[in-house]
Amino acid sequence: MLFLYASCFQNPCIIARMNVSSSILDSPIEYLKGVGPKRGDLLKKELSIHTQGDLLGHYPSRYIDKTRFHRIRDLSSDSDQVQIRGILRRLSTVGDGRKKRLVGRLRDETGVMDLVWFTGVHWLEKSLVVGQEYVVFGRVSAFRNQLNIAHPEMEVVSEENTQKAATFAPVYPSTEKLNTKGVDAKVRRRMMKTLFERLTPQELPENLPAYLVQKFRFPSRFEALRQIHFPKDQEGLTAATNRLKFEELFFLQLRLLQLKRRRKGVVKGYVFSTIGEHFNRFYTEKLPFELTGAQKRVIKEIRRDLGSGVQLNRLLQGDVGSGKTVVGLMVMLMALDNGFQACLMAPTEILAQQHYKSISNYVKGLGIQVAFLSGSVKGKKREKLLKLLEAGEIHILIGTHALIEDPVQFKNLGLAITDEQHRFGVAQRAKLWAKSKPYPPHVLVMTATPIPRTLAMTLYGDLDVSVIDELPPGRKDIETTHRTENHRMRVIGFMREQIGLGRQVYVVYPLIEESETLDLQNLEEGSEALQREFPMPEYQISIVHGRMKAADKDFEMQRFVKGETQIMVATTVIEVGVNVPNASVMVIENTERFGLSQLHQLRGRVGRGAEQSYCILMSSFKVSKEGKERIQTMVRTNDGFEIAEADLRLRGPGNIEGTQQSGILNFRIADLARDGRILQTAREVAARILENDPKLEKPEHHPIRWYLDKHVKQFKGWSLIS
Ligand code: ADP
Ligand code: MG
Repeated sequence: MLFLYASCFQNPCIIARMNVSSSILDSPIEYLKGVGPKRGDLLKKELSIHTQGDLLGHYPSRYIDKTRFHRIRDLSSDSDQVQIRGILRRLSTVGDGRKKRLVGRLRDETGVMDLVWFTGVHWLEKSLVVGQEYVVFGRVSAFRNQLNIAHPEMEVVSEENTQKAATFAPVYPSTEKLNTKGVDAKVRRRMMKTLFERLTPQELPENLPAYLVQKFRFPSRFEALRQIHFPKDQEGLTAATNRLKFEELFFLQLRLLQLKRRRKGVVKGYVFSTIGEHFNRFYTEKLPFELTGAQKRVIKEIRRDLGSGVQLNRLLQGDVGSGKTVVGLMVMLMALDNGFQACLMAPTEILAQQHYKSISNYVKGLGIQVAFLSGSVKGKKREKLLKLLEAGEIHILIGTHALIEDPVQFKNLGLAITDEQHRFGVAQRAKLWAKSKPYPPHVLVMTATPIPRTLAMTLYGDLDVSVIDELPPGRKDIETTHRTENHRMRVIGFMREQIGLGRQVYVVYPLIEESETLDLQNLEEGSEALQREFPMPEYQISIVHGRMKAADKDFEMQRFVKGETQIMVATTVIEVGVNVPNASVMVIENTERFGLSQLHQLRGRVGRGAEQSYCILMSSFKVSKEGKERIQTMVRTNDGFEIAEADLRLRGPGNIEGTQQSGILNFRIADLARDGRILQTAREVAARILENDPKLEKPEHHPIRWYLDKHVKQFKGWSLIS
């Protein structure tokens, strides 16, 4: 992940700028018949469509099924998107000021329904004609028992939109401004049509090798683009979609793999040739358990890189509790054994502290200096630390992003590990590279939660990947159940039983910034109720939440860690950083308000000891469909990778934590949640091509090279940080 993904990705249209000299695709959008300067300006401002090629690269977001009309009588509020043909009977504005809206009445031979607009009222009032027959398209909903469509698309009935030949009409992603200024779906469709009347296949040459087009039975590039805008039928649309998705993913993967190959050829790294005393002594004297097979394999993979003279750039994936920290530590010891310093950067103070404590503990007696640095380390203490670091007297530095600030200078940083990588921005990672001369430090990226394969392949497509796919032995699957308020007494009873057996219990409340006060109230009420059920002095309860002072928080946590308290009531501050093997029950309140990966992280706090552990997901009786699916997923599986896949499916790639800034996921047509198989194929094909023809010199690969050259712009931001 050490490339800068530039802003060009935020503007997918650039991709389609076809650079064939003097092609119509290069000509400014306003020159297209029916556009002109005014609409041209709008398209530029609203959608970054500057040329006719940009317009071509702006694919429909969906299609209206023109093959059937719905009858008003048959509609219900869950009819979803429908097309109706009817006469506009009435049109009037209702309400004033901000509540002003335009209400129309539509009648077909089976009934009547309302049409409502809240914006663009003025313009619509002028353009819609009462008594006219329209083709109406939109999503049906119910308001006071009356069915209506809000902001329907309206087209005057014409031969074009009602004739038998009509199939799928494209609908383009648009903006409110475009719609109200008259560049609506219909106008956009007409523009596309005009463009295609002038386009020839010569203007859209093939960019894939002929053997691939044949093998996958793809339509030609020209045909695919035509079908994506004007599908003949479902079959044509599917074929076009498949090809364009493949194309998009293929070129991205090809580029990522090219960069990876180049980096391996160009970016040199320190050679860690010896396995020395630190590593060996730790392994034989300190390591309190046998490494799992997966841990051993991963350490070998990393060691091979470290000895190769090429910079290590590896993503270490593994489920919660799979033992990444110890692997990270052992890699740091390799750095130390070769005379280098190492650092470990974590995204939060608590997590950094946790690493600092456990690593200091692990290496006790080995003569290794471990130090902690975060924003909270100040004044003299900080000064002294920075001096020691620069003198090389600190061997391992652990901390937050304070590590990468300019005044922090190492003597010879050989290895940088980042934990929970996806919370760090690209720029922060770039700064790490600059912390060492002449070569950048080796970089190991550890993720706290598994990322779906498709995302990993794309976000980290230029990194090597190691996976710890095995949990330490003896772990029992955590038993997860879903309970509602009706079961409260049973849950309390179960907690009492477990505490009776000597175990400890977490009770977690959500903390969402927008409603912090409300959340705190929830937690306070909840803990009061618990205190009644578990009275002192028989029971002790720790309470920890975000509004407490750090010292108080720490004090309460420590009481729980030491076993002085049996119950820990907390907001999600315990999500990371607490390791209490004796805690075997996790009760999560308001489960429906947590995201999947967060739930998985939380659940990972139990099941760390030898006892059977339990996770109880409390929710209200009424939960949204998506909330229900999240809960069911948690009940069904303990597998972090499976949960990550479900998360991607439910929320879409754009919403997975940490992916937003990268811009790399702004695809024109591909969808990582759905197109995993296409992505896999695209990556394999790209890898094979680069293996056989690294410089893309073979004649059959000229189309690829031509396309990459033409689109250097798209990739220009992907420079190496070195
Ligand atoms: P992760 O960071 O991957 O979530 P940790 O490194 O925090 O996992 O390890 C979780 C727990 O498992 C720690 O208490 C650690 O000491 C323990 N552990 C790690 N590896 C092993 C192993 N091979 N056998 C037994 N316990 C292990
Ligand atoms: Mg960890």
